[in-house]
Amino acid sequence: MIRPILRYGDSLLHLPAADVAAVDDNVQQLVDDMIETMYAAPGVGLAAPQVGVPLRLFVIDLSVGHRPADLIVMVNPVFVEREGMQIEEEGCLSVPGFNATVVRPARAVVRGLDRFGNEQTIEGRELLARAFQHEMDHLDGTVFIDRLRGIKKDLIVRRIRKLKRSGRW
Ligand SMILES: [Zn+2]
Repeated sequence: MIRPILRYGDSLLHLPAADVAAVDDNVQQLVDDMIETMYAAPGVGLAAPQVGVPLRLFVIDLSVGHRPADLIVMVNPVFVEREGMQIEEEGCLSVPGFNATVVRPARAVVRGLDRFGNEQTIEGRELLARAFQHEMDHLDGTVFIDRLRGIKKDLIVRRIRKLKRSGRW
């Protein structure tokens, strides 16, 4: 089932999420729905808070469904290593229509559980490292524009407010 994706400004997007207590049937259903929702959007990553569920869980597929091996489901993820720096343009399904350059680690190793509750450790470089950091941020209630500073951030926030006022957000 495709679930609605919350947009920047919705309170559930701006709160830290809680650990998943058990990878039970409800979590399996949530994972299936999140994958379906991510592919339908389409997007390369989706975190549970974006569909209004305050749990530490995200899905990433840089191939957007084209290469099954690219699908990553991460439950209760933690960073094991982060190093380097990359500065690239980034967007978010919760902030449609806006992109900005964000500083991210060049390499990130994440450990967590897969959708069957087995421990897994995955190394990400370049785009995958960026996606890991972006989705981990969602679990902490941070959206990429929260990481921007100055005029660029003000401009995006002002435009979103304007869209909200006119009922288009
Ligand atoms: Zn996002």
